[in-house]
Amino acid sequence: MQQHSQNDDFSQRPYEPITREGESLVATHCAFCGMQCGMNIRVDNDTMAVLGVEPRYDFPMNGGRLCPKGVSAYRQAEHTERLLKPLIRKNGVLTESSWDEAYDLIVSKIKELQSKHGKDTIGLYSGSSMTNEKCYIMGKFARIGLGTKHIDYNGRYCMSAAATGFNQTVGIDRGSTGPWSDIKFADVLLIAGSNTAECHPLSMPYVWGARDRGAKLIVADPRQTKTALVADIHLDLRPGTDIALTNGILHVLINEGLIDRAFIDEHTAGFEALEEMTRKYDPATASGITGVASEKIVEAARLFGRAKNGFVLFARGIEQHSTGSDTVSNYVNLCLTTGKVGRKGAGFATFTGQGNGQGGREHGQKADQLPGYRKIYDPAARAHIASVWGVDESEIPGPGISAYEILQSLGEEIKMMILVCSNPMVSAPSVGDVGEYLKKLDFFVCIDMFLSESAELADVVLPSTVWVEDNGTTTNVEGRVIHIKGIDRTPGESKRDWKIVCEIAERLGRGQYFQFDSPEEIFNELRTASKGGIADYSGITYDKIDRMNGVFWPCPSEEHEGTPRLFEDLKFNFPDGRARLLTFEHTGPNEKVDAEYPIILTTGRVVFHYLSGNQTRRIEALRKLCPDPYLELHPNLAARHGIGNGEMVKVSSRRGSIFVPAKVTKAIREDSLFVPYHWGKQLAINHLTNPALDPKSKIPEFKVCAVKIEKAKKGELPNGQSAVH
Ligand code: SF4
Repeated sequence: MQQHSQNDDFSQRPYEPITREGESLVATHCAFCGMQCGMNIRVDNDTMAVLGVEPRYDFPMNGGRLCPKGVSAYRQAEHTERLLKPLIRKNGVLTESSWDEAYDLIVSKIKELQSKHGKDTIGLYSGSSMTNEKCYIMGKFARIGLGTKHIDYNGRYCMSAAATGFNQTVGIDRGSTGPWSDIKFADVLLIAGSNTAECHPLSMPYVWGARDRGAKLIVADPRQTKTALVADIHLDLRPGTDIALTNGILHVLINEGLIDRAFIDEHTAGFEALEEMTRKYDPATASGITGVASEKIVEAARLFGRAKNGFVLFARGIEQHSTGSDTVSNYVNLCLTTGKVGRKGAGFATFTGQGNGQGGREHGQKADQLPGYRKIYDPAARAHIASVWGVDESEIPGPGISAYEILQSLGEEIKMMILVCSNPMVSAPSVGDVGEYLKKLDFFVCIDMFLSESAELADVVLPSTVWVEDNGTTTNVEGRVIHIKGIDRTPGESKRDWKIVCEIAERLGRGQYFQFDSPEEIFNELRTASKGGIADYSGITYDKIDRMNGVFWPCPSEEHEGTPRLFEDLKFNFPDGRARLLTFEHTGPNEKVDAEYPIILTTGRVVFHYLSGNQTRRIEALRKLCPDPYLELHPNLAARHGIGNGEMVKVSSRRGSIFVPAKVTKAIREDSLFVPYHWGKQLAINHLTNPALDPKSKIPEFKVCAVKIEKAKKGELPNGQSAVH
């Protein structure tokens, strides 16, 4: 196996970090996206107060650079709005209380509700911004502590389509086929549905690295994003038409003999059906569906097909659709039909949004999953995990339901929910409905560091720690397991999430399965649990991560160096070793535009905020840079509705309305609108989005819904919003 060379990265600058008397530097990683950039945190030795951030050049991924979120992340540690004591709702008001009182109440409710309605009446809705150790313990706590089958996590809203797409096509869900340094050696890059420059800014040096070597850049995006602006070809497709676009590109590749026939014959299955199906997606037909000029489809196919090496990168723009999994597979088909995989400069990847979006989807907090990417309905997997946990296999429940389906079941099968590190009142689709679902609960517990829009509705809120107070591991966008070193403090009466659930398990009489004194002890159990699974961490130790600056999974033994690049032997993870070339027809979004709702709404992120904004909206520097959401619309569309730049617009779908200021720009298609989603309550664009789920991955269709717009009328704006921005 060819080992990953550190020299391919950006880390080799000599640097003497600045330390001052009475201060220490803690070498850790940013928590605000899957890049997991390295950083140093300055800490006061006496008070353990977090003072600031310093560059950290020894981590190869970012080589000392940080984006605005990374530079500001440390400011949440000393934030005045942090939760420092448990809160219990008394006479309708969340009131400070003791841990004993909170635990007694929670445990009595669990026992009462489970004795009345059965074990599955409790739902655990978890998050993927936590360490691997915490994600692992949440899966174990649900199944063995609570005995419920109902656990799922917020990664269902971001990474699940990529996971299903990879699994059905190459048999393994590691978000990138190679280390990020591979990107620099591509001759062509196709970035689809990702505004990389804003959402994963520290990936851009890799794109520039490839450009410096002469690589061409193709960007597929409905918006002329900052990434699309620097592309050689911008495929400005209508939202929800990626399958037609990729079928059009495949048509040209096959028709013009730009495929790698030897690779297809030796390493794939299903080409004949793909060839047959894509015949009908000639450039003119694909152009008619996507709105992209047919010449651009042909040009993009030729650039991609003729290049020796190429990398396809994508993100939520192609994934958050009711056909998200299949769209991922069809982009991977571009690499498989042209033999672009398994070597430096050739492969595919999805940009992980959440900090631990990769590791968080591997070790058992998905509804149908056990640690090591095992299936919960596989008898051998159940037997293995039962032996690691020291329980009878029959004690492990069967598969549960996905995150949005959990919300829809509240008050019905699920009467009590424990919400950890997640904020569905901002991040779930159709949040107006989510508020109604939450009201139906008999009891609602929330574990968080700040009083999020969801925590405000809870019966009990338990204060957890921020990321710089954690020790543990995460797995970054490349599949590299890294060590998050934390500061040894828990402000006020806050506790670490893993400690909280272990203490609840103790009070439920299940403490014998949760005897952990440190994250490293949990990690060592995770290693054993993952052994022999697809995501095998058994050969990874904290010490090895520190020595190697991260270890890529799979790593099946302590002697093994890890696996920076997948498929170097061109064997895919199916019994016959062949990748599956699956075929997909264009069906379009679940909700089509019509006379009443004639415009397509798409949503996304901005560089200054992270996910639901529960953390970044509280950081003044970031809030000042981007205080509110806005509506991007084309000048012609704005003119037709008499809307001027900065004027307030009412945007409505079949599910709700919000008021946002107009940002009139030619950088968006005339038939589409864009609003970022990081805000809650009356500013939550997810009031409008469609909760239709991809039947395979259960990801909601955030990226397309049908809306109408009108200039806001005098007097109709909600409190606190003004007519002109
Ligand atoms: Fe790096 Fe992402 Fe943090 Fe920005 S938000 S510093 S790109 S990890």
